[in-house]
Amino acid sequence: MTKKQKAEDARVLGMVREALELYAGVYCLRLRSVELLRGSNTVFGRCYSDGSIFITVRWKNGKQVLPYSLLDTMAHELAHLRYFSHSPRWMRLHATLLQAMVRGHVYQKARKLIKRKS
Ligand SMILES: [Zn+2]
Repeated sequence: MTKKQKAEDARVLGMVREALELYAGVYCLRLRSVELLRGSNTVFGRCYSDGSIFITVRWKNGKQVLPYSLLDTMAHELAHLRYFSHSPRWMRLHATLLQAMVRGHVYQKARKLIKRKS
Protein backbone atom coordinates (compact mmCIF):
# COMPACT_ATOMS: atom_id res chain seq x y z
CA MET A 1 0.00 0.00 0.00
CA THR A 2 1.46 3.34 -1.08
CA LYS A 3 1.64 6.53 0.92
CA LYS A 4 -1.00 8.11 -1.32
CA GLN A 5 -3.37 5.17 -0.85
CA LYS A 6 -2.94 5.40 2.91
CA ALA A 7 -3.79 9.10 2.78
CA GLU A 8 -6.93 8.44 0.72
CA ASP A 9 -8.04 5.73 3.10
CA ALA A 10 -7.47 8.05 6.03
CA ARG A 11 -9.61 10.71 4.39
CA VAL A 12 -12.47 8.31 3.73
CA LEU A 13 -12.22 6.91 7.23
CA GLY A 14 -12.37 10.42 8.64
CA MET A 15 -15.56 11.20 6.71
CA VAL A 16 -17.20 7.85 7.54
CA ARG A 17 -16.26 8.08 11.21
CA GLU A 18 -17.49 11.66 11.52
CA ALA A 19 -20.87 10.76 10.00
CA LEU A 20 -21.32 7.56 12.01
CA GLU A 21 -20.42 9.29 15.27
CA LEU A 22 -22.82 12.11 14.50
CA TYR A 23 -25.79 9.85 13.69
CA ALA A 24 -25.01 7.42 16.51
CA GLY A 25 -25.19 10.43 18.82
CA VAL A 26 -28.45 11.74 17.37
CA TYR A 27 -30.14 8.32 17.50
CA CYS A 28 -28.60 7.19 20.81
CA LEU A 29 -26.76 4.21 19.35
CA ARG A 30 -23.78 2.72 21.14
CA LEU A 31 -20.95 3.12 18.68
CA ARG A 32 -17.59 1.99 19.97
CA SER A 33 -15.24 2.27 17.00
CA VAL A 34 -15.13 2.69 13.23
CA GLU A 35 -12.42 1.14 11.08
CA LEU A 36 -11.89 0.29 7.43
CA LEU A 37 -12.02 -3.25 6.15
CA ARG A 38 -9.74 -3.82 3.17
CA GLY A 39 -10.11 -5.76 -0.02
CA SER A 40 -13.39 -7.62 0.27
CA ASN A 41 -15.52 -7.87 -2.87
CA THR A 42 -18.49 -9.38 -1.17
CA VAL A 43 -18.63 -7.71 2.23
CA PHE A 44 -19.47 -4.00 2.32
CA GLY A 45 -19.44 -3.68 6.05
CA ARG A 46 -19.43 -5.50 9.34
CA CYS A 47 -20.83 -4.76 12.75
CA TYR A 48 -20.11 -6.45 16.07
CA SER A 49 -22.23 -6.56 19.19
CA ASP A 50 -19.54 -4.62 21.08
CA GLY A 51 -20.39 -1.60 18.90
CA SER A 52 -17.49 -1.73 16.46
CA ILE A 53 -18.21 -1.08 12.79
CA PHE A 54 -16.02 -1.89 9.79
CA ILE A 55 -16.59 -0.35 6.37
CA THR A 56 -15.00 -1.84 3.25
CA VAL A 57 -12.67 0.14 1.02
CA ARG A 58 -11.18 -1.44 -2.10
CA TRP A 59 -8.31 -0.54 -4.38
CA LYS A 60 -8.31 -1.40 -8.07
CA ASN A 61 -5.55 -0.41 -10.51
CA GLY A 62 -4.15 2.08 -8.04
CA LYS A 63 -7.54 3.75 -7.52
CA GLN A 64 -9.73 3.63 -4.49
CA VAL A 65 -13.09 2.08 -5.22
CA LEU A 66 -15.83 2.88 -2.76
CA PRO A 67 -18.84 0.63 -2.94
CA TYR A 68 -21.59 2.74 -4.55
CA SER A 69 -23.66 1.81 -1.57
CA LEU A 70 -21.31 3.35 0.95
CA LEU A 71 -24.04 5.41 2.56
CA ASP A 72 -26.42 2.46 2.58
CA THR A 73 -23.74 0.35 4.22
CA MET A 74 -23.15 3.01 6.85
CA ALA A 75 -26.87 3.17 7.67
CA HIS A 76 -27.06 -0.65 7.59
CA GLU A 77 -24.30 -1.20 10.14
CA LEU A 78 -25.43 1.70 12.29
CA ALA A 79 -28.95 0.24 12.53
CA HIS A 80 -27.42 -3.03 13.74
CA LEU A 81 -26.16 -1.22 16.82
CA ARG A 82 -29.77 -1.33 18.03
CA TYR A 83 -31.21 -4.41 16.30
CA PHE A 84 -28.83 -7.26 15.61
CA SER A 85 -31.03 -8.76 12.89
CA HIS A 86 -32.82 -7.70 9.72
CA SER A 87 -36.19 -7.50 11.42
CA PRO A 88 -38.93 -5.05 10.39
CA ARG A 89 -37.84 -2.78 13.28
CA TRP A 90 -34.28 -2.84 11.96
CA MET A 91 -35.59 -2.04 8.45
CA ARG A 92 -37.47 0.98 9.74
CA LEU A 93 -34.42 2.29 11.60
CA HIS A 94 -32.21 1.66 8.57
CA ALA A 95 -34.57 3.66 6.34
CA THR A 96 -34.75 6.47 8.90
CA LEU A 97 -30.96 6.66 9.19
CA LEU A 98 -30.46 6.59 5.44
CA GLN A 99 -32.96 9.40 4.93
CA ALA A 100 -31.35 11.43 7.69
CA MET A 101 -27.92 10.95 6.12
CA VAL A 102 -29.13 12.02 2.68
CA ARG A 103 -30.86 15.06 4.16
CA GLY A 104 -27.74 15.81 6.16
CA HIS A 105 -25.68 16.06 2.98
CA VAL A 106 -23.44 13.15 3.88
CA TYR A 107 -24.20 11.84 0.42
CA GLN A 108 -23.01 15.01 -1.28
CA LYS A 109 -19.90 15.00 0.88
CA ALA A 110 -19.14 11.42 -0.10
CA ARG A 111 -19.68 12.13 -3.79
CA LYS A 112 -17.34 15.13 -3.69
CA LEU A 113 -14.72 12.98 -2.07
CA ILE A 114 -15.01 10.36 -4.80
CA LYS A 115 -15.09 12.94 -7.62
CA ARG A 116 -11.91 14.60 -6.43
CA LYS A 117 -10.04 11.38 -7.01
CA SER A 118 -11.29 10.46 -10.48
ZN1 LIG B 1 -27.02 -6.66 8.26
